Amino acid sequence: MAILILPPQLANQIAAGEVVERPASIIKELVENSIDAGASRIDIEIEQGGCKLIRIRDNGCGIAKDELGLALARHATSKISSLDDLEAIVSLGFRGEALASISSVSRLTLTSKPENQVEGWQVYAEGRDMLPTIKPASHPIGTTVEVLDIFYNTPARRRFLKTEKTEFSHIDEIIRRIALAYLNVSFNLQHNGKLIKQYRAAESEQQIEKRVAAICGISFIQKSIKLSWQHDDLTIKGWISPNIGQEQLQYFYVNGRVVKDRLLNHALKQAFLEACKSSVYSTDEGLSYVIYLELDPRQVDVNVHPAKHEVRFHEARLVHDFVYQAMSMVLSAENGYVLDPSSN
Ligand code: ADP
Ligand code: MG
Repeated sequence: MAILILPPQLANQIAAGEVVERPASIIKELVENSIDAGASRIDIEIEQGGCKLIRIRDNGCGIAKDELGLALARHATSKISSLDDLEAIVSLGFRGEALASISSVSRLTLTSKPENQVEGWQVYAEGRDMLPTIKPASHPIGTTVEVLDIFYNTPARRRFLKTEKTEFSHIDEIIRRIALAYLNVSFNLQHNGKLIKQYRAAESEQQIEKRVAAICGISFIQKSIKLSWQHDDLTIKGWISPNIGQEQLQYFYVNGRVVKDRLLNHALKQAFLEACKSSVYSTDEGLSYVIYLELDPRQVDVNVHPAKHEVRFHEARLVHDFVYQAMSMVLSAENGYVLDPSSN
């Protein structure tokens, strides 16, 4: 067979395979865009577990009229422009693929108004139609992305969608994850016309604890020990708690992005096993945690996988030992106190 360059639509659909697995992954990409746009409020509306409709509205910086079409194009991004930028990522997005991918497998409408523009504008891209149409539309400052009928044109993938309930639980989980990372952004989630979740922006310590309790459960925050340590460019903060009931909550953020990392898991586990030797904690209980690690973006590579759950640290050993030490310190300092039920 002759070698052909794939038409853009097909190329986008292939790329969509990597980031658009289900409604929850679309919501992840869109909410991350809103956060990158500096939004302080994000409203998420879904119907039928997101399979019928996903609508995300933010009050971020918006997109200028003449860039709306570009936003939908593949490899089009405002977040990096050079290899230098790629090596020091400070935004959640940078691949310029999400909107192109999502619009290749759904009916996507993008409406936006930046602060310095008199009126809002809207582009609509449906599946095969690669030239989006643009028209004026009223909109407050910010952006709304509406995604209808996911996978309507890729039936093989549509078949992998699960029940409304299952898709909803994935969405709920994604929103919890992001809401935990961006405590100063307010989130509202509506499902089938009903307000289901509301996480208010938290500033004060008290508000933050309230918000974490709303996301992780009151007993998590009550039983947890606070973690806060800094060394050179490395900062670690958060809460750790011996398991509460059966549910294990494990969220580890690196520069605002939730990651699943072997090295970090190892550091946490080692510190916990050590602490268990002093018999206050029990290994049977396992550990729940919400931990935020911040470091110089030049020290971590997030461009490992399209979904960006994996990272690579340039100085892996250093990061490992830092996390291990911070954990060990806080676990031993709190020995004998945390598990005393009368202290709660
Ligand atoms: P990436 O996030 O990797 O840059 P996307 O395909 O997700 O790629 O988005 C493409 C571009 O569209 C972004 O770089 C940004 O300039 C713009 N954009 C997307 N969503 C929003 C939003 N909610 N608010 C402002 N700009 C946005
Ligand atoms: Mg993006």
